[in-house]
Amino acid sequence: MTAALHDLQRIVGQANAFVPDDRSTYLVDATELRGLQGHADAVVLPGSAEEVAAVVAWCYEREVAIVPRGGGTGFAGGAVPFGGLVLALDRLDRVRSFDPLLWRLEVEAGMRTHDVRRLARENGLLFPPDPGAAEQSQIGGNIATNAGGPHAFKYGVTGAWVTGLEAVLAPGELVRFGGPVRKDVAALDVKSLLIGSEGTLGIVTAAWLRLIPAPEATLPIAAFYRSVAAGCDALLAVVGNGIQAAALEYLDGGTLRHAGAAFPVGVPRNAGFLVIAEADGTEAEAQRIRGELADILSEGALSVVTPPPADLWRWRDGVSLAVAAAHGGKVSEDIVVPVDRLAEAVKATIEIGARHGLEAVSWGHGGDGNLHSTFLVAKDDADALASAEHAADELFATALRLGGSISGEHGLGVTKRGRAGWTPPVERIQVALKATLDAKGLFNPAKKL
Ligand SMILES: Cc1cc2nc3c(=O)[nH]c(=O)nc-3n(C[C@H](O)[C@H](O)[C@H](O)COP(=O)(O)OP(=O)(O)OC[C@H]3O[C@@H](n4cnc5c(N)ncnc54)[C@H](O)[C@@H]3O)c2cc1C
Repeated sequence: MTAALHDLQRIVGQANAFVPDDRSTYLVDATELRGLQGHADAVVLPGSAEEVAAVVAWCYEREVAIVPRGGGTGFAGGAVPFGGLVLALDRLDRVRSFDPLLWRLEVEAGMRTHDVRRLARENGLLFPPDPGAAEQSQIGGNIATNAGGPHAFKYGVTGAWVTGLEAVLAPGELVRFGGPVRKDVAALDVKSLLIGSEGTLGIVTAAWLRLIPAPEATLPIAAFYRSVAAGCDALLAVVGNGIQAAALEYLDGGTLRHAGAAFPVGVPRNAGFLVIAEADGTEAEAQRIRGELADILSEGALSVVTPPPADLWRWRDGVSLAVAAAHGGKVSEDIVVPVDRLAEAVKATIEIGARHGLEAVSWGHGGDGNLHSTFLVAKDDADALASAEHAADELFATALRLGGSISGEHGLGVTKRGRAGWTPPVERIQVALKATLDAKGLFNPAKKL
């Protein structure tokens, strides 16, 4: 590796190519909580898109696998390497252009999600996608997973806000698709193919993002219910009454048991389900919508509360970690079902866990029918981890039976690869697209496809 390392150091600078030791953070992502640990021959941190292209060209010539890495917050092991080279985008974190009056922004892929959102906010604008772990995740990682988040209910997922991409494709070419335009149908839509491709087709180096004026007010409301059925009925009533909530989240009773102590307002003792909704718009609009939400959510509720927005969302951001802390580890999935099957999927999660001797809980983006179904395990308990994998298989079968999909947000990565239930034609198309863009199969091998 010494000669190879010197080659790479010549491209990116001596300090920016190194052999990682076993404890390197570049070898794990959020799946560390389920015991996933990778290994790599080198980690490379290019400082520009041109350097990314040069590194990819070097790898393509020598048939070295390339694992693109953003902030390492992924829950599917997509950024975990199993040999080859980790290409981390950390140093590509510049704003290339920003036109607040035109509501558009061009940033490099390594910019943190939180910084993108903050820059927009400081200029009276909003970049709506808000996956958790925004302090650590990168915009390139959000694009590569087509990340969602609570406000995807009203505003859609990351891809809806990307008007153009710059990417390095095989065998090391810097290519642009779209740009600072709001429409473009002058070619096949390769931009959308790259969005959500989990680093299997190339490396995103920059993106043009669409922004909107920030709503004047955001007013959350939270309602507790005794049962899953009562809570899901309330959630469906919000949808059915045509109320445009900005977010429509849920947490089940087990999640409340582990995370409820820090909820900004007291949790009723017999609460078995929580619905969080948010109204936004002008001050008057947000007040009106929250009033309508309050009327509908009150039906069958134990209590309805209006915590301060910052406190509520800070708490919601910490739910995943609070649940993980209960046993030290967790196997957390992200199935999605038609919204009218949500109650069945919430109950099935608990039943599947019980069948495998595991405590199971779920929370998630209820309005989108997207559950973070989670099996609690101790991180070093191999038997429990194996049971959780079997439980996940049953969960995936349930999601498909209910008319949904095994992944609404996190992608397939390595943890869900081969479990999506593709029909043969779908599989054939996926494999053909991969072969067209990555003939040597070097971009994130053995992930997703
Ligand atoms: C506490 C917590 C809460 C979360 N909440 C949500 C949520 O609400 N919604 C949601 O959708 N996700 C959520 N996630 C999952 C995760 O944060 C998102 O998927 C995030 O967008 C991943 O970004 P990242 O930069 O960390 O990517 P990484 O984990 O580094 O990588 C993810 C995948 O993208 C690829 N990749 C990364 N950067 C690039 C690039 N520049 N070019 C090509 N491929 C690339 C990697 O190879 C990998 O396959 C959460 C995670 C945590 C830990």
